[in-house]
Amino acid sequence: MSTLTDTRNRPLRDLRISLTDRCNFRCTYCMPRELFGAEHLFLPKRELLDFDEIERIARIAARLGVTKLRLTGGEPLLRRDLDVLVARLAAIDDIHDICLTTNGSLLTAKRALQLKTAGVNRVTLSLDALDDERFKAINDVGFSASKVREAVDNAVAAGLAPVKINCVIQRGVNADQILPMAAAFRHTGVVLRFIEYMDVGASNGWRMDDVVTAREIVDTLRTRYAITRAPAAQPGETANRWHYDDGAGEIGIIASVSQPFCGGCTRARLSAIGELYTCLFGVHGRDLRGPMRSGANDAEIAALLAGIWRAREDRYSEQRGEQTAGRRDGDGDGRVEMSYIGG
Ligand code: SAM
Ligand code: SF4
Ligand code: SF4
Repeated sequence: MSTLTDTRNRPLRDLRISLTDRCNFRCTYCMPRELFGAEHLFLPKRELLDFDEIERIARIAARLGVTKLRLTGGEPLLRRDLDVLVARLAAIDDIHDICLTTNGSLLTAKRALQLKTAGVNRVTLSLDALDDERFKAINDVGFSASKVREAVDNAVAAGLAPVKINCVIQRGVNADQILPMAAAFRHTGVVLRFIEYMDVGASNGWRMDDVVTAREIVDTLRTRYAITRAPAAQPGETANRWHYDDGAGEIGIIASVSQPFCGGCTRARLSAIGELYTCLFGVHGRDLRGPMRSGANDAEIAALLAGIWRAREDRYSEQRGEQTAGRRDGDGDGRVEMSYIGG
C-alpha cells in the first residue's frame, strides 16, 4: 500500500469518478432549472473521459493508495454500458470496493443485477422526500418517490448491500420529511442517511439559515424514536452512525457543515472531463486528460497525480466559518458545481 500523503498527513484512499455532467433530474438545490435549462451547454461526448481513460486513471490511483471507487455524476446511469466500465474497474488490483450514487430513476431490476454481476458492491440512492408531491417539486421533473423506492427494492434484490439512501434536508423544504422517511426505512436493512445541506457550487443560493443541523435532525428523530450514537465502523467515516434502541436498524447523519470531517478526508474527485479536484469545494481542478491525450506515460501521470496529492492543503469545511464571514450568503466564489464533480 502506498504511503502517499498530503500536507496534513492524509492518505489518498477514495476516488470519486463523475461519469457525466448530465442529469435527468433538476433538483432545485443541485441543478436548478433556471441555470440548467434548455440553453445550458452540457459537455459534448468527445470531451468526456472514455472508458480506457477512466480505467487508466483508476489503475494509476490504485497504485498510489486508492482502494475504493465511487461512480457518480450528474446521473451515472445515463452513461451507456456502465456495467462494461465497472467490470474493467473491478479487475484492478487493490480496488476492493466499487460504489454507485444514483437518483434511481434508471435502476431497473435488470440493470441492478447487471451492475452487481459486473462488480458494483454497494449503491446509494438519493431520496429527499417520501411525500410524492414534495419529491416531485424537489426533483422538478415530476419523478415520483414510489419509483425511487422501487429502485431501492431492485438494489436490495440484486444484493447491492448495504443499500443506503441519501436525504438532503433543507429548512422550509423537507425538514418535515425526517420522521416519515425514518418510519419508511426502519426494519428494512436499508441505511437512511440525512445530509446537512452544503454550500457546494454557486448556483443553489445556499444560506446558512437553510441548513438543518445534525443536532436538530437528532432532536427531531428523538421526538419519536430512542436512538443511540454508535462508534465509527472505520476511521474517516463521513456519517455519524446511530442505532434505533429497539433494534430497527441503523441511521446515519452527515454533518458536513456543523461538524466538519476534513481531518479524515481521503477523497479525490475526478470530473467527467478528467480534472482532479482534491476537495468538494474546489474552484479549479487539475487536468489529467490533456497529458493523457498528448501521450504522457503511466509514470508521468502517476507523478502528476502524486504531486497534486502531496501539495493538498484542503480543509474547506473546517474553514467555512472564517470564509463565510466575509462572504454574502449564496455567493459561491466560483466553486465547482456538485453535478459537475459528483457528490
Ligand atoms: N445524481 C446522483 C444522485 O442524485 O444520487 C449522483 C450525483 S448527486 C450530485 C450526489 C449526491 O449529492 C446526492 O445524494 C445529492 O442529494 C447530493 N447533493 C447535491 N447537492 C448537495 C448539496 N448542496 N448539499 C448536500 N448534498 C448535496
Ligand atoms: Fe441530478 Fe443528483 Fe443533482 Fe439531483 S442531486 S440534480 S439527481 S445530480
Ligand atoms: Fe474533504 Fe474538502 Fe469536504 Fe473537507 S471540505 S471533508 S477536505 S472534501
